[in-house]
Amino acid sequence: MSIAETAGGRPPWRLLLDYVRPHRRSLLAGAALSLVTGATGLLLPLVARKLIDDLGHDRSISGALLALTALVVANSAVGALGSFVLRRTAESVVLGARRALSSYLLRLKITAVDRSEPGDLMARITSDTTLLREVTTAPLVGLGTGGLTLAATVVMMGVVDPVLLGVTLAVIVCAGTVLGVIVPRINRASRRAQDAVGVMGASLERVLGALRTVKASGAEHREEATLHAAAEESWRQSVRAAKWSAAAGNTAGLAMQTAFITVLAVGGARVATGAIEIGTLVAFLLYVFYLMSPIQQVVGAITQYQTGSAALSRIQEALGLPAEPVSRPGPLPSPATGPASLDFADVRFRYADDLPYVHHGVTFSVPARGMTAFVGPSGAGKTTVFSLVERFYDPESGVIALDGRDLADWDLSGLRSSIGYVEQDAPVLSGSLRDNLLLGNPSADDDTVRGVLKTTRLEGLVERLPQGLDTLVGHRGTKLSGGERQRVAIARALLRSPRLLLLDEATSQLDAVNEAALRDTVADVARTTTVLVVAHRLSTVTMADRIVVMDAGRVRAVGTHRELVAGDPLYAELAATQFLATVD
Ligand code: ADP
Ligand code: MG
Repeated sequence: MSIAETAGGRPPWRLLLDYVRPHRRSLLAGAALSLVTGATGLLLPLVARKLIDDLGHDRSISGALLALTALVVANSAVGALGSFVLRRTAESVVLGARRALSSYLLRLKITAVDRSEPGDLMARITSDTTLLREVTTAPLVGLGTGGLTLAATVVMMGVVDPVLLGVTLAVIVCAGTVLGVIVPRINRASRRAQDAVGVMGASLERVLGALRTVKASGAEHREEATLHAAAEESWRQSVRAAKWSAAAGNTAGLAMQTAFITVLAVGGARVATGAIEIGTLVAFLLYVFYLMSPIQQVVGAITQYQTGSAALSRIQEALGLPAEPVSRPGPLPSPATGPASLDFADVRFRYADDLPYVHHGVTFSVPARGMTAFVGPSGAGKTTVFSLVERFYDPESGVIALDGRDLADWDLSGLRSSIGYVEQDAPVLSGSLRDNLLLGNPSADDDTVRGVLKTTRLEGLVERLPQGLDTLVGHRGTKLSGGERQRVAIARALLRSPRLLLLDEATSQLDAVNEAALRDTVADVARTTTVLVVAHRLSTVTMADRIVVMDAGRVRAVGTHRELVAGDPLYAELAATQFLATVD
């Protein structure tokens, strides 16, 4: 099961374990190396005690010195290897989270996308997952090895002198109480800091997505203020988290200093009374010294975990958004071929529960093959018809059927592979012209591409461009004109050899010559494919086999141009003005 599927409702630490589980071997290896590092460190005081004893009794110290050197070298070598293994594992965990999250976001339902800010989702993939690096391995291992080393050190301390151990533990318990108060504050501040990064991502995306409009409106200063406010909020919260983390670290440090001094005082008194040897006190003090690093590890683990669990809960939120079912990868079980038929039966639909209905019982039938034009005033619900056919949304009631089969019964990718869709604003993606054309059918061969370029009248453009099909078109195709973008979008849809072609005001920005040429192409395609067009020009509508007149979420009339001019006043009026749907 993927992480995405198990995300719902788990506490952050369980989720953390889900992310870490695939890497448990390297994590364990790293933990083992850290333990060995800790153990070699733990032996040092014993060797030191022997050294002092040897010195005191005038024995040769070369053996003890050699052991000391070997331990120090082993300690640093194994320590370095261990920390590398752990960091590598941490990067693998981040990779796993990024893969899971990006696959998930690509499958998000359009309704979920409508409700979210893409910039914020982006921040969750890039920034929040990075924080996982800090939290998955180091704290887990820190907690494990630090805890074990801590326990071992405490046992050794007990062996050396139980009284001094009691003194040390009392100090540690006091510090632990203080930490209990600090730690939740780190979590809260981290969460707010990451939320602010998300807000910043959202504002950035908003500005960069429409930089021309922002500049033309002279709104740079206001957008700048919004961006800065988000950045400053993230700063404020991160500083707050830093403050509490520092306090936590300092509490641990202070506790150790206190323990050191107390042990020195109490131990000194015990040496004076002859209760313990001076070597024992030195060994104990060294243990107190060695307690420092596991305690810091454990405290560090706890504070880092707070940051990480804040990021995790943001990742978990993204994984909780509704997504489309996973489609089978690879070739589909051969979908039907030939033109498709489409039926809407009493379809009622609204974009969200708190929004008014857009379709109030839409009914029409489109047989296989031929061209059907949708006309009606702006806002009538024409684009929504296409969105429903692509199953970007599901109707609230009523049935939409392709080939007589309810869309709900179709495999989603099977359904979409039957359809070529040119959206109203003809989106073009950043990348080369070729990338854009082959987006919907990467396996199209050169001859086919050439043929489609010819029918969509893009040959001239491709010849003119110095790099031809490999020319980069810029973000959203800004380097192309509106008409060129539309023709690229149409070419892309045609290259899919769809069974159902949906054109939403696809030629609205073309000049008359190109429009007429494409009209002929579309008429040609309609001989072998079912074509639905939202039309804005009378010329397109008059050549349609049937016209569906929509108004305010209802189908007013269906018929040919001649029938409708005579029978439908709205259509007659639209036809009289030549423009059948204002471009919106
Ligand atoms: P048309 O294409 O006929 O001009 P649309 O189908 O695009 O009309 O839109 C019909 C209505 O649905 C409009 O009132 C519009 O505001 C609303 N609408 C369109 N898309 C969305 C959306 N994603 N979320 C909410 N409302 C929407
Ligand atoms: Mg529209």
